[in-house]
Amino acid sequence: MTPTTLNQKPINDANRLGLDYRAEAERFAYTGPIIDIHTHIGTPDSARLYSEIAELFGVVKTVSMTKLENIDAVTEAMSTEDRLGADRIEFIAVPNYEAAHEPGTFTTDWLYRMEKFREKGCRIVKFWAAPRGRDLHDEAFHMDSPTRKESIQLAYDLGYRIFMTHVGDPDTWFATKYTDARKYGTKADQFKPLEDLLDEYHDVTWIGAHMGGSPEDLDFVQGMLDRHPNYVLDTSAAKWQARELSKHPDRFRAFCERNPGRVLFGTDIVANDKNLDFDLYASRYWTLRTLIETNYDGQSPIVDPDLSMVDPSLDEKSTADLRGAGIRGEALASVYLGAADKVLG
Ligand SMILES: [Zn+2]
Repeated sequence: MTPTTLNQKPINDANRLGLDYRAEAERFAYTGPIIDIHTHIGTPDSARLYSEIAELFGVVKTVSMTKLENIDAVTEAMSTEDRLGADRIEFIAVPNYEAAHEPGTFTTDWLYRMEKFREKGCRIVKFWAAPRGRDLHDEAFHMDSPTRKESIQLAYDLGYRIFMTHVGDPDTWFATKYTDARKYGTKADQFKPLEDLLDEYHDVTWIGAHMGGSPEDLDFVQGMLDRHPNYVLDTSAAKWQARELSKHPDRFRAFCERNPGRVLFGTDIVANDKNLDFDLYASRYWTLRTLIETNYDGQSPIVDPDLSMVDPSLDEKSTADLRGAGIRGEALASVYLGAADKVLG
């Protein structure tokens, strides 16, 4: 699918092609409902802008990591004339990252928040374990640390049965930011503790964010799915997925066809009062939908700083090649709706 609105709008880092995202949103072949399982909708104002864009791209429900104190106001802001906010958004329990440097944020306060989120009806909890978490707290972000194990057990005891996790990070980061392997471990090191937890909490559905942290190596991810029937993935992080899955779109399509119900659509849109920007949010939907369901072969509209980080000879405004996987039919409906429906029940 070739965009029909190239160079019709001002160029910015979320729109290097000058697309009219509103017009392009109408042109996708899939017109059914979509669930976005992975967003960060921070505030009422950003929720209102987000909600308008989500609707343009067919998203009927979003699952968001939102600060505990904001979930009532964000729920209300998500209401439309015909639908209540509570039908359109559901929350994932998260620590208070705004207080990242205060003692207790990732230990005692986090345990307290998990309980409060649960009281508000929250069913999903996120255990973020990116290597860079170790810069925030030496111990809490290791998947196998005593602090982490205590929080996972509490989540289980509180009745959470959907755990989202972020294990790993892009290969580009292990090649640049994470060269201190003593501190961060290798990429392969990240997954062993996760595998143990997948076995230990086998009656919990675990969602591995960002294609299980490994869109670069879908054979590895397939092994994880095969070994752990309680493990599913989300497609979130538009720049990362566009850059890596576009290197093997046929492999990505075959992967989704082989694993119905196990790949959930997600974007990782971060919406807050500092980034109220139509193109920013819309670019994530346009890029991921183009990657998943079309046969587009061209540039991604989003500036990807990892390209010049890995190869400093490249322009800082470089964008990745974007090549659509052309997923269709039941496999597509599963990614967009069926898989999330099954997980959410
Ligand atoms: Zn995220």
